[in-house]
Amino acid sequence: MTARADAFPEYDQLLALLDAASHVLDCRVVCEAAVQGHRFGVHVATLGSRDPLAPAIGIFGGIHGLERIGTQLVLDYLRSVLGRLAWDELLHRELQAVRLVFMPIVNPGGMWAGTRANPNGVDLMRNGPQDADARVPFLAGGQRLGAWLPWYRGPEGAPMELESRALLRVVQEELLPRPLSFAVDCHSGYGWRDSIWFPYARTRRPMAHLPEMYLLKTLFEQAHPHHGYTFEPQSHQYLLHGDLWDYAYDLTPAGSLFLPMTLELGSWLWIKKNPRQLFSREGIFNPIKAHRTARVLRRHVSLFDFLGRVAVAPERWLPRGPQREALLQQARAHWQTETLP
Ligand SMILES: [Zn+2]
Repeated sequence: MTARADAFPEYDQLLALLDAASHVLDCRVVCEAAVQGHRFGVHVATLGSRDPLAPAIGIFGGIHGLERIGTQLVLDYLRSVLGRLAWDELLHRELQAVRLVFMPIVNPGGMWAGTRANPNGVDLMRNGPQDADARVPFLAGGQRLGAWLPWYRGPEGAPMELESRALLRVVQEELLPRPLSFAVDCHSGYGWRDSIWFPYARTRRPMAHLPEMYLLKTLFEQAHPHHGYTFEPQSHQYLLHGDLWDYAYDLTPAGSLFLPMTLELGSWLWIKKNPRQLFSREGIFNPIKAHRTARVLRRHVSLFDFLGRVAVAPERWLPRGPQREALLQQARAHWQTETLP
């Protein structure tokens, strides 16, 4: 059998999953990406409660076309949820209260072409209109010199790329209007350890919902003491222009709580253990050995499961009044953030 030119394995797996589960999933194509004459739909699949006020969890991957392991993680979790529907009564009860939103390949054109950027050469995670309020790393913080260099933001003043707009539309329709929502966006390629980053990337000033983010981290650590994530504001690592999660977070309407997280799978250890990977473009962003891929994939299910469970009854844990104030002090001490204006 010859490989089809307009296909890649993750995209085929996604279509097969959506097809096999069409009776339980609500599926739609939110935009189409064209690359060298091929067209790929950007698919969104949702399941669970249809109550517009139900808490929701959005799981995203493939914003950077080279980071296939992030997409595999999202596909694996979707497959696991669908498989468990056959026997897991607790999952059914969770889904009566919670909605799950999956967007596993935000940038299919880039994944097909094997590029971090989308087919226009734009790094979608630098494509928001906002600028950082202090120095960003040269190039990597986002640049407008041109698409011939990595981390290109797109032309000054131009509308955002269609994949960026599609992602933001999904966030605005499916997540932001709800009293509580989470997003996890799966990436790879940076760091020695797996990290969970949250806004802001554009400033060292803290997000308004720092107490809630700190409490979420604390609850997760109590439930999974050996998880091993570094959990911190993105600005602790480096500042950047145009981060889409910064932008989405700032669109949160009054009265809603939206906690976006970027899961950055630390790939440097994979390279240290297998230096040959440095010479493979795939290898810097994805584990090459099968046993390591399996280890990477199985490590994060507990995070997704945790978010689903904690979303069921937010009234049990969301902080109020003096408790919230105390959490804010603890969070500031923990992350040493600048004080709020
Ligand atoms: Zn990435």
